[in-house]
Formats: sequence, structure tokens, C-alpha cells
Amino acid sequence: MPKFTDTISIQVYAGHGGAGAVSFRREKYIPKGGPDGGDGGKGGNVYLESDRRYYNMSHLFKDRKYKAGKGGQGMGDNRHGGDGDDLTVKVPPGTQVIDKESGAVIADLVKEGDRCLVAQGGIGGKGNAFFKSSTHQAPRFSQKGMPGEEKEITLNLKLIADVGLVGLPNAGKSTLLSRATNAKPKIGDYPFTTLIPNLGVVDRDNGKTYTIADIPGIIEGAHKGHGLGLSFLRHIERVSVILFLIDATEQDPLYNLQLLESELSTYNRDMLSRPSYIVLTKSDLLDNEEIAQKKSLFNTDHVVALSSLQGQGVENLLEILDSLME
Ligand code: GDP
Ligand code: MG
Repeated sequence: MPKFTDTISIQVYAGHGGAGAVSFRREKYIPKGGPDGGDGGKGGNVYLESDRRYYNMSHLFKDRKYKAGKGGQGMGDNRHGGDGDDLTVKVPPGTQVIDKESGAVIADLVKEGDRCLVAQGGIGGKGNAFFKSSTHQAPRFSQKGMPGEEKEITLNLKLIADVGLVGLPNAGKSTLLSRATNAKPKIGDYPFTTLIPNLGVVDRDNGKTYTIADIPGIIEGAHKGHGLGLSFLRHIERVSVILFLIDATEQDPLYNLQLLESELSTYNRDMLSRPSYIVLTKSDLLDNEEIAQKKSLFNTDHVVALSSLQGQGVENLLEILDSLME
């Protein structure tokens, strides 16, 4: 399996402009030909473009330097040098591009095909033909091309899923994901079974499709960088619906919810204003009365119970999600 890479710095180099030429016309019946040195070509630009076929940065890990082509040199007979080839580096949708030196956000490549210029190629130098004037009939100089831009950029992947599963380790996130979507996450009975966020696609008979991301265990203090939480919180920043998964057999599910909510809001206050549902998992381990009692602890009708293992309640949850995914 490729290393999961959700943040990386790369060096981008646009092409230098080509030099202008110094050249004079030589033709049979024109003894003193004028200057005919053409201009240099423009250096290639470096672009970043989001492409759904990539879901992390691991393809950028090996080669951290990306160079566009240089502009060709100008030639005699007023021929201009060719422009350098542009280079397009592919990144997953959800990539935020930051200028490492200034810290400025250059672009957010959110949607498939979003594209941004990260390094501008240098313009080509003028050939000596350009400098001919009434007072200067035979210039013997030309310009060098301008250097291409160079910079180090940091790429942060902010996973874009429609629905984010948020819950403590072992809440049953991976199991629900594998039941509801095409994803095949690892399922285990110990914390941090999931070290990378899994993304699954829900394909409904009614034609709706949406993505659900399994966000690995948040623990208390995740927003301060404890455990593995902080880097993972980044992945749910952009989901449009949040499901708080809480093990129904927990002694104090309400405390559990408060913990999850406070982790989220400390990281990004805005996240709690998104549509959300509380999902009590592992309902097969309790009887109906116990489930009703646990549900009533939450002062909202945005609470459902389900068993990903046996299937009860999963369809009901997907119908709720259908209605939220317009
Ligand atoms: P995650 O850490 O939140 O991804 O949790 P997992 O999906 O890996 O599940 C943790 C444990 O709970 C595993 O042993 C699962 O088999 C178990 N589990 C998950 N869902 C259910 C359920 O609906 N019923 C029961 N009885 N066990 C479940
Ligand atoms: Mg898991």
C-alpha cells in the first residue's frame, strides 16, 4: 500500500525564457543585410490541477522537484524560439496550495479539474531585430530571457466527502462504512484500527450518489495535537453532513457526544453549525427498551440507532442522508 501522504512540500520551477538572437540577413543581392535575430520563446508555466484519480499525495513523494520546459532561443531570419512546455502536476480534489515562504494560500483546488498557476514562465528575450531604429541600424545585442518563477509550495489535502463519520475509536465507523458503501476498510476491536481516512461511495437505487468518509478516532485533546486527532480533523473540515457515531453500549453516551462536539468546535467552531445526526451503533447488543432509553437522553430527534453488523437501521439512515443530499 502506498504511504498515506496528506501534506507535502514540493519545489516548482517554471521555465526560463529563451534568449533573443543576434543575427544579420545574408542574401545574394543584399550586401549589407539588416538585423534579423528573432525573439526567444517564453518559458513554460507550472500548474496544479485536481484529478479524481488521485486520492492522496503519495505520487508526489518520490520526486519533489517539478520543472516546466525552457523557452527556445531566437534564431536568424526572424525566427522566434519555441515556447517551453507547460507542466501540470496532478493533485487530489480537496488540495489546498500554500506558498511555503509567505504562508499565503495560493488556491483551493476543490472540484474535479480545478486548476491554478503556481509558477509563471519567464518571457523570452528580444532578438536584435527588435532593437533596430533609424539611429541604430545594426544593433549587435539581444536580450537574455527572463528567469522562470521558482517556489516551494505546501500541499495540504482536505478530504472532501459529503458525509463525515466522527466517533471515538471503536465506535463502529469502519463497520458502518463497509456496510453502507463500496469501501473495504479494516475493522478491528482495538483503537486506531484505521490509520488513514477511508472514503466510500454510496450508490443508491434512487440514483443518488454521495461519499462518506470514515475519520479515524478522535480522542480527547485531539485539537491540541494529542494522539492522531489533529491531522485527521483536517479531513472533515469540509463535509456537509456530520454523523456522530456513539457506541450504544457506552455508559454515558451524552458525555461521549459532548466530547466529540467539543473536539470539533475547538478545531473549527463553524463545524457544529452543519447538519448532523447522532447515530447509536451496535444496537444489536441492546434490547428495544434500552435503545429507546438511550435515544431519549439526547434532546433532539436527530438521533437514530442501527446495527452495522446485522443491518437493522442502516437503510433508515441512508434515507435520511438521501433527503439531506439535494
Ligand atoms: P471504528 O474504530 O470506529 O472504525 O470501529 P470498527 O468499525 O473498527 O468497530 C469496532 C468494533 O466494534 C469491531 O470489533 C466491530 O466488529 C464492532 N462493531 C461494529 N459495529 C457493530 C455492530 O453493529 N454490532 C456489534 N455487535 N459490533 C459492532
Ligand atoms: Mg475504524
